[in-house]
Amino acid sequence: MAKIPMTTPIVEMDGDEMTRIIWKMIKDELLMPFVDLKTEYYDLGLPHRDETDDQVTHDAAAAAKKYGVAVKCATITPNAQRVEEYSLKRMYPSPNATIRAAMDGTVFRAPIIMDGIEPLVPRWKAPITVARHAYGDIYKGVEFRVPGPGTVTMTMKTDDGEETLMVHEYKGEGIALSMHNTKKSIESFAKACFEYALSTKQDLWFGAKDTILKVYDGEFRAIFEAIFEADYKDRFDEAGIRYEYTLIDDAVARVMRSQGGFIWACKNYDGDVMSDMIATAFGSLAMMTSVLVSPDGKYEYEAAHGTVTRHYYRYLKGEQTSTNPVATIFAWTGALKKRGELDGNAELAAFGQKLEDATMATLASGKMTGDLAASCVKEEKTVLNTADFIAAVRNTLESM
Ligand code: NAP
Ligand code: MG
Repeated sequence: MAKIPMTTPIVEMDGDEMTRIIWKMIKDELLMPFVDLKTEYYDLGLPHRDETDDQVTHDAAAAAKKYGVAVKCATITPNAQRVEEYSLKRMYPSPNATIRAAMDGTVFRAPIIMDGIEPLVPRWKAPITVARHAYGDIYKGVEFRVPGPGTVTMTMKTDDGEETLMVHEYKGEGIALSMHNTKKSIESFAKACFEYALSTKQDLWFGAKDTILKVYDGEFRAIFEAIFEADYKDRFDEAGIRYEYTLIDDAVARVMRSQGGFIWACKNYDGDVMSDMIATAFGSLAMMTSVLVSPDGKYEYEAAHGTVTRHYYRYLKGEQTSTNPVATIFAWTGALKKRGELDGNAELAAFGQKLEDATMATLASGKMTGDLAASCVKEEKTVLNTADFIAAVRNTLESM
């Protein structure tokens, strides 16, 4: 059978540990036999990041911006223990943070829903996608301890002058925090959310606390509304989808009562916290996909989980592990579908969809990895190791 041709390469970012092993298995078994795979390869594995002084991460991010579609394997974010384990020159920053900063993007996380694994919230029938603003607020906060009685103020200096606000007059010890965001970043966040809602044809909800933070959260709300009215209202109407702002507490309540099937835009902290709740409630971190979308429509796909270190150490001892490759397969299919769409390569996009369908059909037939079997209510299930599961997906794919 002739392989499906590609025109523009996908930016391929390889990674670490167990996911690096799975990465190769997926390429060898599920992609290269079917697609004349064109990638621009960047090795973000920790040893190579160290060799290049992390330049490779910056180069990979630049390539993602150039070509518009990237797929990334999970990578180690070094801590002190990793610096020792890999004899690193220094403690490099998280590659995801580097790539996010370069792409100025918003992270969308969506669960893959399978038959037999019931969400912990029984009403949820369709995936809930959390869109997390990935810049500023407490993550760029400045905080300090107030040692005793005193005054904390906040001063803004501009070309027009100076303004000082009283934060608090302390009678004793305390703490204080200042945080910021920028109009540019909030605009990017809003655009990325509207674009993603359109491209996936789902409603968009945005929740914040503008009753309390009238200026701060009020600005988020106003920017979303202005961009929606100016650029997206008609397109949303055409697509038959809706944008709605609601208070964050109301959003939480409505999410619980909903049936799913929408995008939930969250400020940075809300998104950090809520995406873990959504992932857990839908069943498994190993079934969560993540895509970073820039405001000018560049996409980077990955699995939401890490490098599955504990399985890797077992693999190094020669054991077979039952590590779940589904989210990593879906990172690839997301990239193939998007590349196909952007290049007008219908065959490539269709293959991406077919591989997703084959993966879901394999799971539906009861073949799965151990993590899923543990929470799957199906009567008949077969626990497979990673290689056998991937082989089963290939069988399904070839029979379709
Ligand atoms: P992790 O790799 O996601 O694994 C945590 C645990 O979750 C695993 O030990 C495993 O549980 C289970 N798990 C996760 N993915 C699985 C899969 N595909 N199949 C089966 N089980 C799965 O998180 P971590 O242990 O906190 O982090 C490991 C490394 O990954 C760290 O160096 C961290 O920096 C990095 N990390 C990278 C990214 C990224 O690149 N996006 C994200 C998060 C973490 P059991 O061991 O109980 O089976
Ligand atoms: Mg978190």
